[in-house]
Amino acid sequence: MDLHRRPPPPTTPNGAVATTNHHSRRLKSPSPSPKASDALPLPLYLTNTIFFTLFFSVAYYLLHRWRDKIRSSTPLHVVTLSEIAAIVSLIASFIYLLGFFGIDFVQSFISRANHDGWDLDDTITTNQTTNFSVASPVAGSDQSLPKLTAPKPSFCSEEDNEIVNSVVEGEIPSYSLESRLGDCFRAAAIRREALQRTSGRSLDGLPLEGFDYETILGQCCEMPVGYIQIPVGVAGPLLLDGFEYTVPMATTEGCLVASTNRGCKAIYASGGAESVVLRDAMSRAPVVRFSTAKRASQLKFFLEDPLNADTLAVVFNRSSRFARLQGIQCAMAGKNLYMRFTCSTGDAMGMNMVSKGVQNVLDFLQNDFPDMDVIGISGNYCSDKKPAAVNWIEGRGKSVVCEAIIKEEVVKKVLKTSVSALVELNMLKNLAGSAIAGTLGGFNAHASNIVSAIFIATGQDPAQNVESSHCITMMEAVNDGRDLHISVTMPSIEVGTVGGGTQLASQSACLNMLGVKGASKDSPGSNSRLLATIVAGSVLAGELSLMSAIAAGQLVNSHMKYNRSCKDVTKLSSRG
Ligand code: ADP
Repeated sequence: MDLHRRPPPPTTPNGAVATTNHHSRRLKSPSPSPKASDALPLPLYLTNTIFFTLFFSVAYYLLHRWRDKIRSSTPLHVVTLSEIAAIVSLIASFIYLLGFFGIDFVQSFISRANHDGWDLDDTITTNQTTNFSVASPVAGSDQSLPKLTAPKPSFCSEEDNEIVNSVVEGEIPSYSLESRLGDCFRAAAIRREALQRTSGRSLDGLPLEGFDYETILGQCCEMPVGYIQIPVGVAGPLLLDGFEYTVPMATTEGCLVASTNRGCKAIYASGGAESVVLRDAMSRAPVVRFSTAKRASQLKFFLEDPLNADTLAVVFNRSSRFARLQGIQCAMAGKNLYMRFTCSTGDAMGMNMVSKGVQNVLDFLQNDFPDMDVIGISGNYCSDKKPAAVNWIEGRGKSVVCEAIIKEEVVKKVLKTSVSALVELNMLKNLAGSAIAGTLGGFNAHASNIVSAIFIATGQDPAQNVESSHCITMMEAVNDGRDLHISVTMPSIEVGTVGGGTQLASQSACLNMLGVKGASKDSPGSNSRLLATIVAGSVLAGELSLMSAIAAGQLVNSHMKYNRSCKDVTKLSSRG
């Protein structure tokens, strides 16, 4: 069987798969197309029998009467009442039969034409669909969950059907479909169909079409069967460092965008926010083991010796033209040594880049420390995607501080509260309350809400929300107590504008909206740093709005009132 028979699906300019291809059209709708006859109030077999019987009996009667008239030389146009009734019945039944079979006849032509043009709705009515069967639910599966109630016709080609069967029976590994078929969309469609059959559960609702599966191959997601849709809202304009940004936020949390938008409005009305990138350094910390703690400490001193810095940097920086080693921080646990390498990574978030650099250095160190046993390229002292004090204290990715002075009248009119109430709430909630809770970098109201929404919209790694949301929100009355000084300090915002999910069509569009799409030509790293400041500025807006809602006692009310139907953005808050 020729598995490479179809070229990749055509894509639209924005990267979406065009829906004119064979499979995408066919998979569009699972329900058979309706027919005109479906509108009849009685079962078909009954109405058909009645009208057939009527037609033939009155036709027989009229022919009989016609013969009698010819024999008795009676003029044909002289008709009795019963003959009139018979003629009317004949015409009526003829119209019915013509309508019924005539329309079906025409429909069959339309169906065939559409089938040739790969229109799903009609191909489903063809007998090929009857080939499909649904496997019984897997053993132990929850019987209460919705099941596939009918076979889901998906493919017209016997070849695809055979491949689905092979995947179901385990003859073809599901993960190998892309490489075998050379067509990512077809692979996803076949995998999806196989999954539905083996699980006995429908994937209706999880879209398959409208996504370019080629773009995620080998980079973003393996074994795709569809994609999740998340709405993207915009907050703004966010006036930050003299520029206006419209911030995309992908979320399903009602009121979050509206609340952030209100914060942006307050910042804008007060003249904008300012931000500073304090540090730009991604980290990776391998763990190595020696036979003695003394020997491990020798490597520590070697790495910390300024005389070795240049050599180590040269070795490390070979990994990429954008990787620049900044430092190595060591920590010991007995005879185990943890080396936290930090480096700038241009516009990439940088995990791959820093890992490659670390590997180069480890290979180099083996020359002088052949007894070094590399236990793992990551020893969790990095620390990636886990709450860790090292990130909170040292920073990871971009460390950013962002501030604004919100005018007294704006606090009153836009935020509907007072400066003193905000300052007091911030002290008792974000500082004291978080301290009592034993927080790690959580001295804020809801930074992670904004961070996560922007991360998802712009193709960042959402798991890095853990440390990227570390934030301390400070509030102070200034200008003789009239205005509010607010700041957010975020030591570990991990963002990039190249690599990972940033190159996908939707995420790329959101980056483009912010003017930070891709690699910066003039100054590598400036796009990702700008994105980090926008994240911090948006967090500032989110903190302002939610804290104001809580200070004004609006949180519960506005949540109850607007969370399911956010209409009045001026009264909104979010959870935190
Ligand atoms: P990450 O290190 O965040 O996982 P990737 O390794 O996936 O990111 O992507 C970074 C890739 O992009 C590298 O191959 C790098 O050479 C390339 N690249 C191109 N331009 C830039 C830039 N301005 N900054 C950083 N990387 C860039």
